[in-house]
Amino acid sequence: MKKVYLETFGCQMNVSDSERVATRLAAEGFEMTANESAADVVLFNTCSVREKAEHKLYTRVGQVRNPDGTKPIVGVMGCVAQLEGETLFAKSPGVDFVIGTQAVGRVGKVIENVFETRGNFYDLGVREENYDWTTAPAQRHSPYVAFVPIIEGCNKFCTYCIVPFSRGREKSLPAAQIVRQVSVLRDQGVKEIHLIGQNVNSYRPKSDVGLENFRGATPFSKLLRAVAATGIERIKFTTSFPRDFHPDIVDAINENENLCNWVHLPFQSGSDRVLKAMRRGHTIESYLQKIDKIKVSPRKIALSTDIIVGFPTETEEEFLETLKTAQYCEFDSAYAFKYSPRPGTPAAEMADDVEALEKTDRFLRLEKVLRQSQTKALQSCVNKIYEVLAEKKSFKKDRKDKSAHIGQLPTIQTNGDNFSGHTTCHKVVNFESSNDVLGKIVKVKITESKTNTLYGEIC
Ligand code: SF4
Repeated sequence: MKKVYLETFGCQMNVSDSERVATRLAAEGFEMTANESAADVVLFNTCSVREKAEHKLYTRVGQVRNPDGTKPIVGVMGCVAQLEGETLFAKSPGVDFVIGTQAVGRVGKVIENVFETRGNFYDLGVREENYDWTTAPAQRHSPYVAFVPIIEGCNKFCTYCIVPFSRGREKSLPAAQIVRQVSVLRDQGVKEIHLIGQNVNSYRPKSDVGLENFRGATPFSKLLRAVAATGIERIKFTTSFPRDFHPDIVDAINENENLCNWVHLPFQSGSDRVLKAMRRGHTIESYLQKIDKIKVSPRKIALSTDIIVGFPTETEEEFLETLKTAQYCEFDSAYAFKYSPRPGTPAAEMADDVEALEKTDRFLRLEKVLRQSQTKALQSCVNKIYEVLAEKKSFKKDRKDKSAHIGQLPTIQTNGDNFSGHTTCHKVVNFESSNDVLGKIVKVKITESKTNTLYGEIC
C-alpha cells in the first residue's frame, strides 16, 4: 500500500480540500501517513495569498528526501499549483506532479500515472459534476469541529487579491446537499460546523431545493435557518463579504441559539477612495450600518475583521480613517497586514508607493488600537461563565504563575488535564478539568485574560 504524506498551508478552504483529498486517497487504497520520511508520496497543498507562502513551498520541496537519500514522488496542489501549472516543474525540479484547485478529485489517478511512467503530470481541469464533497471522520482535522464548504471561488476581483484567479468563479453548492452533510456530521458526533467559502454570504445556489421551507431575505440567510434546523449544536460561518451582508443574517442569528454569535467581516480600509481603488464594492458608511446592526443584537455578537495598511496611494489622512473605523468598531480580534503586491493582480500594476517604514509605522499604530479593543473584549469576559467546546487536550499538567513574580516563576500544581476550546463567540479558552470532557460543551468560569486567550475553571 503506497503511503501519502499531505502537508497543508493556508486557509480553512485548503484544510477542507486536504481532508477531502485524504478521504478519496484512503478510499482508493492509499495509506495516509503523518510520517514524512515513511512516505512514498509527499503532497503539498499550497497557498498563494502571500508571496512568502510560495517561497516556503520551494524550500519544502527542496528538503524532501527519503532516509536512504532517494526522493519520494512530490506533488503540489492548491492555489500555487493552479496559478503556476506546469511551470512548477522548471521552477522547482523536485516536483513530479501538479493538481489544480478543481482537479483534486483526480489526484489518485495522477499519482498512479506518475508511478507507472515516472514522468511529470499536471491536471488543471475543472471539477467533476459528481464530485464528492464529504469527508471521512478519520481524515478530519478534528472529531468535533468540521468545515463544510458552501461556495467555492470568487467573482469579486478585489484589486490586490489572487483568489479569483486561483479558485475560479463563484459556484454555490446545492442547499439540500449541504443540509444533508450537516445532518450526517451531527450524527457522527461533530459539535460545531463552519460553513466556509471565500464569501459565504454571496451564496446563490442554482435552485431553491432544500430551502423551500425556510424564510430569509437572501439564499444565505435561508441556508443559515435550514442548517440551524438540523439541530447541530454550533454553526459558525466565514468569510462574509460586506457588500452582501444582509441585516437578515443578524436576525437569523438572533432567532437561532445554535447560530454562533461571531461574525468575521473584513473592512480592509476606512477610506472610501482606497476601498474604491481596492474594488471592494462597499463604502465605509454602508459597512458601519452593518456593524451597528450587529452591535445591537441581544446575542452580543463578537466581531473580527481583516485590514490592509499601506495600499498604493494611501495617504496619512486615509490611514487615519482606518484607525477611526477600527476605534469605532472595537473588534474582538483582527488580522492586520502591510500591503505587498501579489503578481498577477491589478494592484501589482500600481506603484507600491507607501514607503516600507511608513507602512510599518501605520501597521504598529493600527495594531495598538486593535490590541486595545481585543484586550477590552477579553477582559470583559472575566468572572463570567461561558459554554466552551473542549476541542483539544494539552498534556502540560502544570503551568507557571506569571501573575506577580519576576525571576523564577512558581509552578501551579494542577489536579486534572488542561483543555482548550472555543466559546460560541470564537474566543479561545484554556481550562482544567479532572473529568475527560474532550468533545463536550462545558460551562467554564473565566478567571483570567491574557493577550489572545482566556483562562478559566470548569463549573
Ligand atoms: S472577496 Fe476580494 S479579497 Fe475576498 S477572495 Fe474575493 S477577491 Fe479576494
